Amino acid sequence: MSDCLFCKMVSGDIKPAIVHEDDDILAFRDVNPQAPLHVLVIPKRHIATLNDLDASDAELVGRMTLVARQIARDKGIAEDGYRTVMNCNAHGGQTVFHLHMHVLGGRPMGWPPG
Ligand code: AMP
Ligand code: ZN
Repeated sequence: MSDCLFCKMVSGDIKPAIVHEDDDILAFRDVNPQAPLHVLVIPKRHIATLNDLDASDAELVGRMTLVARQIARDKGIAEDGYRTVMNCNAHGGQTVFHLHMHVLGGRPMGWPPG
Protein backbone atom coordinates (compact mmCIF):
# COMPACT_ATOMS: atom_id res chain seq x y z
CA MET A 1 0.00 0.00 0.00
CA SER A 2 2.07 2.92 -1.28
CA ASP A 3 -0.12 5.57 0.36
CA CYS A 4 -0.16 3.96 3.81
CA LEU A 5 1.83 5.77 6.52
CA PHE A 6 2.76 2.63 8.44
CA CYS A 7 3.72 0.73 5.28
CA LYS A 8 6.19 3.56 4.64
CA MET A 9 7.70 2.84 8.06
CA VAL A 10 8.01 -0.83 7.16
CA SER A 11 9.71 0.05 3.85
CA GLY A 12 12.00 2.60 5.52
CA ASP A 13 10.69 5.60 3.55
CA ILE A 14 9.75 7.10 6.93
CA LYS A 15 12.03 6.28 9.85
CA PRO A 16 10.24 5.89 13.17
CA ALA A 17 11.94 5.36 16.55
CA ILE A 18 12.00 1.56 16.37
CA VAL A 19 11.88 -0.46 19.59
CA HIS A 20 11.42 -3.94 18.07
CA GLU A 21 11.73 -5.49 14.63
CA ASP A 22 11.49 -9.06 13.37
CA ASP A 23 10.50 -10.65 10.07
CA ASP A 24 6.79 -9.96 10.50
CA ILE A 25 6.39 -7.26 13.16
CA LEU A 26 7.64 -3.70 13.73
CA ALA A 27 7.19 -1.66 16.92
CA PHE A 28 7.99 2.04 17.23
CA ARG A 29 7.32 5.06 19.44
CA ASP A 30 4.04 6.90 18.85
CA VAL A 31 4.79 10.41 17.53
CA ASN A 32 2.12 11.90 19.84
CA PRO A 33 2.58 9.92 23.06
CA GLN A 34 -0.37 9.68 25.44
CA ALA A 35 1.72 8.19 28.26
CA PRO A 36 5.42 8.08 29.25
CA LEU A 37 5.65 4.85 27.21
CA HIS A 38 3.52 4.79 24.06
CA VAL A 39 4.56 2.27 21.44
CA LEU A 40 2.70 0.98 18.38
CA VAL A 41 3.11 -2.68 17.41
CA ILE A 42 2.23 -3.37 13.76
CA PRO A 43 2.32 -6.28 11.35
CA LYS A 44 4.69 -5.59 8.45
CA ARG A 45 2.01 -6.85 6.07
CA HIS A 46 -0.69 -4.31 5.33
CA ILE A 47 -3.90 -5.22 7.15
CA ALA A 48 -6.28 -2.26 7.34
CA THR A 49 -8.37 -3.03 10.42
CA LEU A 50 -9.27 -5.69 12.95
CA ASN A 51 -12.23 -6.49 10.68
CA ASP A 52 -9.81 -7.63 7.99
CA LEU A 53 -8.21 -10.38 10.08
CA ASP A 54 -9.05 -13.99 9.43
CA ALA A 55 -8.23 -17.26 11.17
CA SER A 56 -4.88 -17.58 9.40
CA ASP A 57 -3.74 -14.37 11.16
CA ALA A 58 -4.18 -15.84 14.65
CA GLU A 59 -0.48 -16.54 15.14
CA LEU A 60 0.52 -13.10 13.86
CA VAL A 61 -1.82 -11.31 16.27
CA GLY A 62 -0.69 -13.56 19.09
CA ARG A 63 2.92 -12.67 18.35
CA MET A 64 2.04 -8.96 18.33
CA THR A 65 0.73 -9.44 21.87
CA LEU A 66 3.94 -11.21 22.89
CA VAL A 67 5.97 -8.33 21.44
CA ALA A 68 3.90 -5.91 23.54
CA ARG A 69 4.62 -8.02 26.62
CA GLN A 70 8.34 -8.06 25.86
CA ILE A 71 8.47 -4.28 25.34
CA ALA A 72 6.69 -3.76 28.68
CA ARG A 73 9.25 -6.01 30.35
CA ASP A 74 12.21 -4.34 28.64
CA LYS A 75 10.99 -0.84 29.53
CA GLY A 76 10.41 -1.82 33.15
CA ILE A 77 6.66 -1.21 33.31
CA ALA A 78 5.41 -4.80 33.34
CA GLU A 79 4.93 -5.09 37.09
CA ASP A 80 3.21 -1.70 37.52
CA GLY A 81 1.01 -2.54 34.55
CA TYR A 82 0.13 -1.13 31.17
CA ARG A 83 -2.62 -1.11 28.57
CA THR A 84 -2.88 -2.52 25.07
CA VAL A 85 -5.47 -1.06 22.69
CA MET A 86 -6.48 -1.82 19.12
CA ASN A 87 -8.89 0.80 17.80
CA CYS A 88 -11.20 -0.24 14.94
CA ASN A 89 -12.91 2.12 12.51
CA ALA A 90 -14.82 5.29 13.37
CA HIS A 91 -16.39 4.40 16.70
CA GLY A 92 -13.12 2.86 17.88
CA GLY A 93 -11.25 6.06 17.04
CA GLN A 94 -8.97 4.51 14.42
CA THR A 95 -7.12 7.16 12.40
CA VAL A 96 -4.39 5.14 10.67
CA PHE A 97 -5.78 2.25 8.63
CA HIS A 98 -2.93 -0.20 9.07
CA LEU A 99 -3.53 -2.54 12.01
CA HIS A 100 -1.69 -1.51 15.17
CA MET A 101 -1.65 -2.29 18.85
CA HIS A 102 -1.03 0.63 21.20
CA VAL A 103 1.10 -0.19 24.26
CA LEU A 104 0.63 2.50 26.91
CA GLY A 105 2.27 2.65 30.30
CA GLY A 106 4.31 4.58 32.81
CA ARG A 107 1.28 6.13 34.50
CA PRO A 108 -2.07 4.88 35.81
CA MET A 109 -4.74 4.61 33.12
CA GLY A 110 -8.32 5.74 33.61
CA TRP A 111 -11.37 3.57 32.97
CA PRO A 112 -13.75 3.71 31.19
CA PRO A 113 -11.94 5.19 28.19
CA GLY A 114 -13.47 8.19 26.44
P1 AMP B 1 -5.24 5.19 15.98
O1 AMP B 1 -5.91 6.49 16.31
O2 AMP B 1 -5.59 4.06 16.89
O3 AMP B 1 -5.40 4.85 14.51
O4 AMP B 1 -3.70 5.43 16.25
C1 AMP B 1 -2.83 5.99 15.30
C2 AMP B 1 -1.63 6.45 16.06
O5 AMP B 1 -0.59 6.71 15.12
C3 AMP B 1 -1.83 7.74 16.86
O6 AMP B 1 -1.59 7.50 18.23
C4 AMP B 1 -0.81 8.69 16.25
O7 AMP B 1 -0.23 9.55 17.22
C5 AMP B 1 0.19 7.74 15.64
N1 AMP B 1 0.97 8.29 14.55
C6 AMP B 1 0.52 9.04 13.53
N2 AMP B 1 1.54 9.39 12.72
C7 AMP B 1 2.66 8.85 13.26
C8 AMP B 1 4.03 8.86 12.91
N3 AMP B 1 4.48 9.50 11.82
N4 AMP B 1 4.92 8.20 13.70
C9 AMP B 1 4.48 7.55 14.81
N5 AMP B 1 3.18 7.49 15.18
C10 AMP B 1 2.29 8.14 14.44
ZN1 ZN C 1 -0.08 -0.25 5.53
